[in-house]
Amino acid sequence: MTKRFVYADNAATTPVSEHVFEAMKPWLTEYYGNPSSLYRIGQQAKNAANTARAQIGRALNAAEPINEANDRKPGEIIFTGSGSQADNLAIRGFVEGPSNHGRKHIITSKIEHHAVLYTCEALEKEGWRVTYLDVDKQGRIDLEQLRREISDDTAIVSVMAANNEIGTVQDLKAISEIVHAHGAVFHTDAVQAAGHMPLDVQAMGIDLLSISAHKFRGPKGIGALYCRKGITLKPSVFGGGQERGWASGTENVAGMVGMGTAIEDAVSEMDEKMSHVRRLTDRLTQGILKIPYTHATGDPVNRLPGTASFVFEAIEGEGLILLLDARGVCASTGSACSTGSLDPSHVLMAIGLPHEIAHGSLRLTLGEQNTEEDVDYLIAAVTEVVSTLRAMSPVWVDGKPDLSAAAGLHG
Ligand SMILES: *Cc1c(COP(=O)(O)O)cnc(C)c1O
Repeated sequence: MTKRFVYADNAATTPVSEHVFEAMKPWLTEYYGNPSSLYRIGQQAKNAANTARAQIGRALNAAEPINEANDRKPGEIIFTGSGSQADNLAIRGFVEGPSNHGRKHIITSKIEHHAVLYTCEALEKEGWRVTYLDVDKQGRIDLEQLRREISDDTAIVSVMAANNEIGTVQDLKAISEIVHAHGAVFHTDAVQAAGHMPLDVQAMGIDLLSISAHKFRGPKGIGALYCRKGITLKPSVFGGGQERGWASGTENVAGMVGMGTAIEDAVSEMDEKMSHVRRLTDRLTQGILKIPYTHATGDPVNRLPGTASFVFEAIEGEGLILLLDARGVCASTGSACSTGSLDPSHVLMAIGLPHEIAHGSLRLTLGEQNTEEDVDYLIAAVTEVVSTLRAMSPVWVDGKPDLSAAAGLHG
């Protein structure tokens, strides 16, 4: 096995494409004006920001991405500093804003990104009532439970379009119908979904939708919130009044141009590109599932085309990532102890995996730049690393997991 470098962590971030990089460059070096300035390079920058809004609006089928009546005021596309900021602005900005008429209940799911979950937990401490919906073994929310929990006190329902760990895609249209029947608004964190699956805010009945450029080959540090016309949010940052006064700060014009270019590129010929990615992912999944005591996670049908996710019995995710790195492979595990705790991810817990199995999770996320050779290398590298780790594992006995051997380890 000749060593190669394989980037298989496109759900964490993606490389900026050459095309996006070239589109951004003049807005950093030549047309660097402040969009609020009245002289030419300022106005050019403002126009570039609005062009980017229009590109994003087209990709999402927003009705009014820019404000036709006043080109100094954005329409439905509000730029933020990240996907996390877009999620925060959507949820807190809505429930504390003037469009929420006194409703005190929030519904979300147990498998949201922390940008959503921790916003909801913070609001809960401030007196809001929050319901965290369960998901089934595939990671789909229970629509019946949503119907039971929603009431005329529910202000907002926030359910992600596609999960970042296991790739499961939700039925957004079905959710929005339930939400709207109760006069609540529907927010979806589409940070993983955008550029990878079709999104149509009008057809799907989405009121608020978060995206982030670096997940679809744009730059880091720029996100956007689609906010349906007629909804008014409470500002997340006070200051110079940019982005309808909801996210003040001098515009990251190059980032906006990069985001607009990247989303336009991503949605052009999306079917062809994503069926290529899906073929690679299927080949990868088949190869990895040949390893004994291995399980695929997430929904086998309703899933992102590039996400392959697994759990290996009698394996520690961290060891897996480090040994894969030594073989030139960038991958990710849901059990990374980023906070110093060794708890497996909340997503793997929510889909009902036992603790000891959830610890051995691996996420491989492919992009359009990956090849069949990459996939074959990934399969070989993972197979080798899993067997190396199992050979050293105290809970791997006679070629199979032995949980009785684990009993003494957790004391
Ligand atoms: C990456 C991600 C975010 C956060 O986006 P940033 O731009 O990195 O802040 C939010 N939600 C999901 C589902 C993500 O995958």
